[in-house]
Amino acid sequence: MRILVLNCGSSSAKFAVIDPGTGAELVSGLAERLGQDGARLVWKRDGVKKERTIPGADHDRALRTIVQVLDDEGLRAGLAGIGHRVVHGGPRFTASCLVDAEVEAGIEACFPLGPLHNPPNLLGIRIARELFAGLPNVAVFDTAFHSTMPERAYLYAVPWAWYEQHQVRRYGFHGTSHRFVAEEALSRLGLQGRADSALVTAHLGNGCSAAAIHGGRCIDTTMGLTPLEGLVMGTRSGDVDPALIGYVAGRLDIPATQVIDALNKQSGLLGLSGSSNDMRTLVEKADGGDRRAALAIEVFCYRLAKTIGGLATALGRLDAVVFTGGIGENSVAVRSRVCALLGILGIQLDPARNAEHGRSAGGVISSGAVRAMVVPTNEELMIARDTAGLVGGTAACAGRCSCTA
Ligand code: AMP
Repeated sequence: MRILVLNCGSSSAKFAVIDPGTGAELVSGLAERLGQDGARLVWKRDGVKKERTIPGADHDRALRTIVQVLDDEGLRAGLAGIGHRVVHGGPRFTASCLVDAEVEAGIEACFPLGPLHNPPNLLGIRIARELFAGLPNVAVFDTAFHSTMPERAYLYAVPWAWYEQHQVRRYGFHGTSHRFVAEEALSRLGLQGRADSALVTAHLGNGCSAAAIHGGRCIDTTMGLTPLEGLVMGTRSGDVDPALIGYVAGRLDIPATQVIDALNKQSGLLGLSGSSNDMRTLVEKADGGDRRAALAIEVFCYRLAKTIGGLATALGRLDAVVFTGGIGENSVAVRSRVCALLGILGIQLDPARNAEHGRSAGGVISSGAVRAMVVPTNEELMIARDTAGLVGGTAACAGRCSCTA
């Protein structure tokens, strides 16, 4: 079976054709700078990179070009379905589901919760339904994996009416990645199906979040109503005192929305270091004596370790801490610092295994009973698997749409 996976952002559209059985990626690519002169489509097949310029192309033209590429590469005919990444599923979407008009309306109803992501996600779905008439479409939500959180984890201590009338609560994001690496880690550790298994997964990329996973189900996570809450990230602040927003707005005589914009785009590693949001660059600069770069890494690691400790408390016991994402999979320095702070949880880092990202030990980079692990994430494969399950009738839609699956 072959599945087309689509991830439409505000100015980009990522795509891949994946065999969900083997995990093989037959083609993958990115249409970027959409709506601008420099818009282009780049794709890779069998290790060979190709490019086509599509000046000024919008999402519709970009997706039409992707269809042409799939035709040229002989990959369109064998498609069984299309899986779409959708960022915010709100309180309604607690699992992936087949798309129909009602699901489209549900995704649209979540626009106020995901104003930057849901509109382009839905646009991609609508264009795909038109361009690939007859092929089933599946929506896979970033928030869905976290829908098993109990009230004590997802409620904010704010006026009840905000929650009841405006859905103000914690949702969590990166759920597809946390689910993928948790399943992979449980399988590698022989803990699949164990009701008492306890993992903390740390997705550390440009965006960062961690999750507490008990018996394969998420019981807490660090991101909240929006992806701004929680850990220090590339350009996002993570947790701050919310009163800071009014204070800074007053001092700088700017609207609160501008302060929130700066918390999203000019904070985190970039704000602390004053030079970069890229962990590779910061590690190099810190090694070269840049004090602010070193401080940014220290705050990042300290906050992460403190948070993992909190999530371990939610779990009550701990089998493993799993690192993933660009930083989690590649940064020996970050993992080393974080694990050094996690001695209290019984984690003993093995520096030699850490140096080779655990590749010769099934991802394990520690020596004690509580494991630290590196597990590369693969959100596209997870989306392809969910899509295959729903399209092939081996998974149920559970009444989330009006289809009969
Ligand atoms: P992602 O959003 O998952 O692509 O991750 C992006 C982040 O991963 C950036 O901060 C990169 O600097 C970081 N990253 C990628 N490769 C490495 C590496 N070899 N060492 C440290 N950080 C890395």
